[in-house]
Amino acid sequence: MNAPVKTAKLIKGATSDWEMVIGLEIHAQVTSNAKLFSGASTQFGGEPNSHVSLVDAAMPGMLPVINEACVKQAVRTGLGLNAQINLRSVFDRKNYFYPDLPQGYQISQYKSPIVGEGEVTVDLDDGESIVVGIERLHLEQDAGKSLHDQSPTMSFVDLNRSGVALMEIVSKPDIRSSEQAKAYVSKLRTILRYLGTCDGDMEKGNLRADVNVSVRKPGEPFGTRCEIKNVNSIRFIGQAIEYEARRQIGILEDGGSIEQETRLYDPGKGETRSMRSKEEAHDYRYFPDPDLLPLEFSQAYVDALKAELPELPDQKKRRFISEFGLTPYDASVLVGERESADFYESVLAALEDKARDGKLAANWVINELFGRLNKEGQDISASPVSAAQLATIINLIGEGTISGKIAKDLFEIVWQEGGDPRELVEARGMKQVTDMGAIEKVVDDIIAANPDKVTQARAKPALIGWFVGQVMKSSGGKANPQAVNELLKSKLGL
Ligand code: ADP
Ligand code: MG
Repeated sequence: MNAPVKTAKLIKGATSDWEMVIGLEIHAQVTSNAKLFSGASTQFGGEPNSHVSLVDAAMPGMLPVINEACVKQAVRTGLGLNAQINLRSVFDRKNYFYPDLPQGYQISQYKSPIVGEGEVTVDLDDGESIVVGIERLHLEQDAGKSLHDQSPTMSFVDLNRSGVALMEIVSKPDIRSSEQAKAYVSKLRTILRYLGTCDGDMEKGNLRADVNVSVRKPGEPFGTRCEIKNVNSIRFIGQAIEYEARRQIGILEDGGSIEQETRLYDPGKGETRSMRSKEEAHDYRYFPDPDLLPLEFSQAYVDALKAELPELPDQKKRRFISEFGLTPYDASVLVGERESADFYESVLAALEDKARDGKLAANWVINELFGRLNKEGQDISASPVSAAQLATIINLIGEGTISGKIAKDLFEIVWQEGGDPRELVEARGMKQVTDMGAIEKVVDDIIAANPDKVTQARAKPALIGWFVGQVMKSSGGKANPQAVNELLKSKLGL
C-alpha cells in the first residue's frame, strides 16, 4: 500500500512554479457518555456549566480517573487507521493559562502517545488514490468555552466541554493540494463514523482541523509552515489552504521569508490572519502528569478490539466491487456513509432473482434516491422511500410489469405519497402492456402513417429507434420495449 505521495498541480507564481505541502492535525471528539477523566456528561447543548464535575472545574485536591471507554475508542480508531498501537503510553501536562482552562494545564500525551504511525488511503475525484501517513494519535482533554457575546462588559466561561475526550490525529506532511486535504478529512471522518468513535459533526465542533501549510519549489526541501487553527468545515479547509499558499508565495517571490506562526481563517473575508507567533513545545513545560499512571494494556486486549471492528469503508468498497460488480466510483459513493451502504445492501437483499442486478440497484440508489435526497437537502436516514419500497420498484421492472420509465414515475409517487409500489401500479393502471395485439395495432398505425421513415429505416436499421420512440410515446410509456422492438423488426423486415 505504499503509493508514492502524489504531486498535485503546481501553482504558477511570477518567478517559478510552487508546490503546496500540507499536514493536518484533526481534533476529533471521542464518542463517549462521560468525559476523559471524570463521570460528567458529554451531552451537547446543556445549560452552561451544568455538566461540570469537581474534576472538570479543577477544584483543589481533585484527582483525574481515566475513562476506559475513551481509551477503547482511541485504540479502535488507531486500528481503523492501520496504525501501531502502543501498549504503554503516558499522560503529560501541557501548561498554559487561559480563562477556559481552570487547571492551568491540559492533560495530553506528548512523547508517548497511545497510537503511533498509520496510514489512510484517500480516493480522489480523478479516480486516483493517495496514501496519507498518520504520524500519531493521542488522547487529550478539551477546554471550556469563553463566551464574549453575552454581556457588553463581561466575558463568561462555560465549562461543559471542559475535560471532554479528544483524539488528536496528526498526519504526515504528505498532502499536496487543497483537494487532497479535503478528500483526506472526509475519508478520515467516514472511518471515524464507521467505527462509531467520533460522530464527525463539524457544525458542533466535534471534528475540527489545524491546517499546516508551506510551499516550496518542486524538489526543494520543505519550507517553513504556518498553522491555521480550528477550521471547522471541509470547504473552509480548502479555502484556507488556497489563500494561505498564495499568501506565502507572494511573500517569497517578493524576496521575503515566512515566519512560522499560528493563523486564523476568516471565512467571511476568505483570508487567514496572524494570531500569534508559533509557540514551541518547550514553552509548554510538558511533564508527565503525576496524578496519572502510565496507561498500559496487553496485546490480547488490542487483538480482542481488533476482532470486533466493523467492516470499514475500504474493505466494504472492495467487497461491493467484487461481489456486486460495481464500478469503483459507484462503490465509493455507496460506502461514503455506513447508512448508505446498509441501505443499498437491504435493497439487494429484498430483490427477487430476476431483478438481482447489483449495478441496476446501485443506479437506483445513487441516481434516483440520492439525487432526490440531495435536491431536498436530506440524508438517507430521512428517506421517504424505504429500502423495501425501492426493492419492490426494481422487482417490478425485473418482472417486466413496468418499464424503467414508468418506474421513475412510480418512484416519484412513492416519494410523495408513500404506499406499496405493487398496489399503486395495480390501482393506477401503470402496468406495462405486453398484450401483443394491442401493441401490434399501435405499430401498424405508426408504420402506415410514416412511409418515408420506413424506407429510410430499411436502408439504415439504426433508425428503428425512432419507431420505438413513437410507439412508446403513443402507448404512454406502457408498451414493453423489448416486445415493441421485436415486432418492429419483423414488420419492417429488418
Ligand atoms: P505542532 O503541535 O507543533 O503543531 P505537530 O507535530 O503536532 O506539531 O504537528 C505538525 C503538523 O504539521 C503535522 O501535521 C505535520 O505533518 C505538519 N507539517 C510539518 N512540517 C510541515 C511543513 N513543512 N509544511 C506543512 N506541514 C508540515
Ligand atoms: Mg499543532
